[in-house]
Amino acid sequence: MATIKPIEGRSVHQIQSGQVIIDLCSVAKELVENALDAGATSVEVRFKNNGLDSIEVQDNGSGISPEDFETIALKHHTSKLATYDDLTSLTTFGFRGEALSSLCALSKFHIITTRASDGPKGTKLEFEQSGKLKGTSVVAAKQGTTVVVDTLFYNLPVRRKELEKTIKREYQKVLQLLHAYACISTGVKFSVSNTVAKGKKTMAFSTNSNPNTKENIANVYGAKTLTALIPLDLEFEMDPSNVPGSTQSARNWSTQEDPGSRNIKIVGHISRPVVGEGRQTPDRQMLFVNSRPCGLPQVSKAFNEVYKSYNITQSPFIFADIRLDTNAYDVNVSPDKREILLHDQTALLENLKNALVELFEGHDQSVPQAQFL
Ligand code: ADP
Ligand code: MG
Repeated sequence: MATIKPIEGRSVHQIQSGQVIIDLCSVAKELVENALDAGATSVEVRFKNNGLDSIEVQDNGSGISPEDFETIALKHHTSKLATYDDLTSLTTFGFRGEALSSLCALSKFHIITTRASDGPKGTKLEFEQSGKLKGTSVVAAKQGTTVVVDTLFYNLPVRRKELEKTIKREYQKVLQLLHAYACISTGVKFSVSNTVAKGKKTMAFSTNSNPNTKENIANVYGAKTLTALIPLDLEFEMDPSNVPGSTQSARNWSTQEDPGSRNIKIVGHISRPVVGEGRQTPDRQMLFVNSRPCGLPQVSKAFNEVYKSYNITQSPFIFADIRLDTNAYDVNVSPDKREILLHDQTALLENLKNALVELFEGHDQSVPQAQFL
């Protein structure tokens, strides 16, 4: 008797969705990325009970056109990518059309309110768990989109229990992630709040549509943080054989950039390599690839190692955006897109370590001890 049978469609959807939305951070990340992809200049994130009850993201971006109402929450339906080849010139955060459909499958979220720029009124959209549009109604709304994710993992009892147990820690993690999006997003006003018991709302942090990342950092971490920072402005030439093909300019790249450039730039801010100017813990470290917040363990290790050779007792504040050709890395390596594969990471790490030593040597150090390399 045959033992191999296809998994029933609804269960496949639930299994796959659980890989896209793995925790509270995934929800915040996907919704904030959608807001930024929609060109929002204001992003409000509201948590209820640290996110355990709900997470709501409201933006003033493009809104969703009525023609797209039927399809936005269907799996692999996206306005951002049509073919695999488009991946190499990607300038949006999203591209797989999985977030909204996964959120439909894993939470009691089934409602979006939206109003496109040419829409006379707002529309409330209600979806089924499968992502199919269930119904619409006209509501008053400003331009933009509001998505509410209610009771995450309500239908995955093990995950829900784990979330309940770890919610305070998860909330801190999600704030760190949102700090990264708020700091890198120039010209965008972020505001993040949490409402806990008895309806008491507290502001977690906010930014002011600042024109540069320095002011964003000051808003998020306090103006005093800036006094310990020096600018990062590194550039290396990479071996062209490792960076083939497209030269599409990526998100936030300067328009003056040489379109044929195979160089990698790392720009941002880092603590001065001086004892007293670093951090007790490595909790303020943000790495980006073409403005996309991501985890790059090897790059992070390189930064920390070099820094520690100057200031062994502390960890640096790091805000570093690695700017490179969109063809020189792959975002499509993990279902939650937090990992990025850099094609020429070994050379990048070597260059980075050397450049950091050079940078730190050029600054006053109360404890000079560069034994690195
Ligand atoms: P992806 O971001 O990969 O396209 P999503 O499931 O996150 O997939 O979103 C599906 C589509 O819904 C997007 O491509 C976009 O067209 C639309 N959309 C989602 N969120 C928003 C938003 N906040 N504003 C405008 N459009 C949105
Ligand atoms: Mg998305």
